[in-house]
Amino acid sequence: MLELHGVSRSYTTGDTVTEALRNIHLTIRRGEMVAIMGPSGSGKSTLMNILGCLDRPSQGHYLIAGQGTADASPETLAALRREHFGFVFQRYHLLPKLTALGNVEMPALYAGHAPAVRRARATELLERLGLQAREHHRPPQLSGGQQQRVSLARALVNGGEVILADEPTGALDTASGMQVLELLQALHAEGHTIIIVTHNPDIAAHTQRIIKISDGRIVSDQSTGQHGVPRSLVRNNNATLPRSAWWTVADRFANALHMALLAMAAHRLRTSLTMLGIIIGIASVVSVVAIGQGTQRQVLAQISELGTNTMEIYPGKDFGDPYAALIQTLTVADVHALATQPYVDSATPNVSLDVKARYRQLTAQAQVSGVGADFFRVRGLALADGRWFSNDDVQRAAQVAIIDQKTLSTLFPHRRGDALNAVILLGGLPTKVVGILESKSLGATRNANLTIYIPYTAATTRILGNQSLESVIVRISDRISSKAAQQAVTQFLTRRHGVKDFYIFNADQIRQAITKTSAALAMLITAIAVISLVVGGIGVMNIMLVSVTERTQEIGVRMAVGARPSDVMQQFLIEAVLVCVMGGIAGVALALVLGWMVTPGGSYGLRMVFSLPSMVAAFTCSMLIGLIFGFLPARHASRLDPVDALARE
Ligand code: ADP
Ligand code: MG
Repeated sequence: MLELHGVSRSYTTGDTVTEALRNIHLTIRRGEMVAIMGPSGSGKSTLMNILGCLDRPSQGHYLIAGQGTADASPETLAALRREHFGFVFQRYHLLPKLTALGNVEMPALYAGHAPAVRRARATELLERLGLQAREHHRPPQLSGGQQQRVSLARALVNGGEVILADEPTGALDTASGMQVLELLQALHAEGHTIIIVTHNPDIAAHTQRIIKISDGRIVSDQSTGQHGVPRSLVRNNNATLPRSAWWTVADRFANALHMALLAMAAHRLRTSLTMLGIIIGIASVVSVVAIGQGTQRQVLAQISELGTNTMEIYPGKDFGDPYAALIQTLTVADVHALATQPYVDSATPNVSLDVKARYRQLTAQAQVSGVGADFFRVRGLALADGRWFSNDDVQRAAQVAIIDQKTLSTLFPHRRGDALNAVILLGGLPTKVVGILESKSLGATRNANLTIYIPYTAATTRILGNQSLESVIVRISDRISSKAAQQAVTQFLTRRHGVKDFYIFNADQIRQAITKTSAALAMLITAIAVISLVVGGIGVMNIMLVSVTERTQEIGVRMAVGARPSDVMQQFLIEAVLVCVMGGIAGVALALVLGWMVTPGGSYGLRMVFSLPSMVAAFTCSMLIGLIFGFLPARHASRLDPVDALARE
């Protein structure tokens, strides 16, 4: 059944080459029980590893049931191990986190048996090996003999046509050793092929054939004369297979998930610290996006109050013209002329002038703005006290004023309560204070001057000498499209001034400008977020590499019982993704809590608007981080050499 033709195996460590096996010719028939003996370091384990497809010959050919293994891929070798071989190691190599039952089931899982089938088979085997009361114990809670019986059950769960036992009794007391030997003999009687490495001549004497090797060569190969004739030949248990591929994949996925959770639970502090990086990254992305959306929505709401049928005209060639302040051609006469145009509903000038403001003994330089009644709404200003002035006030050129907080504290330092309805002098003009602006209104803090608003009619007719304007608000007739009106206004004013020394802003343009600005801001934020997530991802990668190193032996055991490289890869990828996804969920939750704390009070002027797409995106992002940064460690794990991995302590 197993044939070695001229097999050699050499190890290269640095400059030295160790010849562990030299030109071995060996045939083992189905149903034989063979003992391999020899001094330590003679190459017994190397031979077993090659026989069990854990290792490959450096030279020569190895045939299983007549089929060559030279060109087999790691996946095919894993399949051979699953289907034909069962390993029993001197040090048991059970996974300490799984129960006895879990350990025994593992090879069946990789072989693709249904959960119920593999559980039943594992339970049956454990019972047969006298471990029925120990199914739910973990290896550290079992004695050496019991652990070795669990590992024997593991070797048998997929059929175990060929049992490869490398010094199975080496770590056991005599009684337990004899028990294991008896079990192996019973299995042999049932038709299993048994190959056992041992130092103990008593044990070897119970086999049919003793092969002695020394220094990598077979020095003797003798029959002991024992004839344990097999009663029946073991059939491959895989006959009961296969289920649909989809189920098998889902099943293995569920198990990998379970293992990932166990691994994470075993290192809670480490896992949560790694997660923290992702949590902070995701939480900051989600909340910054929410703040951006909140602010944008707020500003856009203010703009939409303007309505699409208003526009503002400013002096200057374009927005940001440095010479705008010197252009004095936009005048009250323009406003009157505009008002007579058929497409204009109303035109309101904004004028501004520096005057001395005075209340009783106190005087201060103030900027007086003459505005229309719409101005405050358009600018989104808010009142702390009093009232706005009305259209009626504007028509009558009423001597009423609305002052800002700075004016309030300058002119009424000790008697803030007196301000409302007090009469102040603005460049000599007595004016009654009817309203006080809220300090935090948008635009109110824009300049450092004291700012006082009066009806523009009062400003132009009662104070102003200079007739040039700061801006003109034009309300367009309902029937006219804003685009047509804007063209008409541009033409009309250009003809009046001779040159185009003004520019027009309408609500749409402002909206566009804001959207553009916030898009640029979003890009910036995204860049920062990506950096923070990359940092988090590197943390994940780092921890996963540590995890792979720590669990190298586990990986070796899994490979020995038939896990494919892809199974190992999947397991570590799932772990990385799980850490990231859990971090992502926690990050989104943290952002929501932040939003909940900030939004209702609005005390920082912040408003957070959470959108489902942004949260879904954050979640997807964290998953991708897991995949990307988990890939390298997972691939590293899947490419480990099974023999090396097993040998690692
Ligand atoms: P045995 O099991 O008979 O004690 P082994 O098969 O483990 O012997 O080892 C045979 C020889 O190969 C020894 O000299 C050992 O030092 C060497 N050897 C085994 N594994 C490795 C390895 N991974 N790298 C280098 N040398 C090794
Ligand atoms: Mg050995």
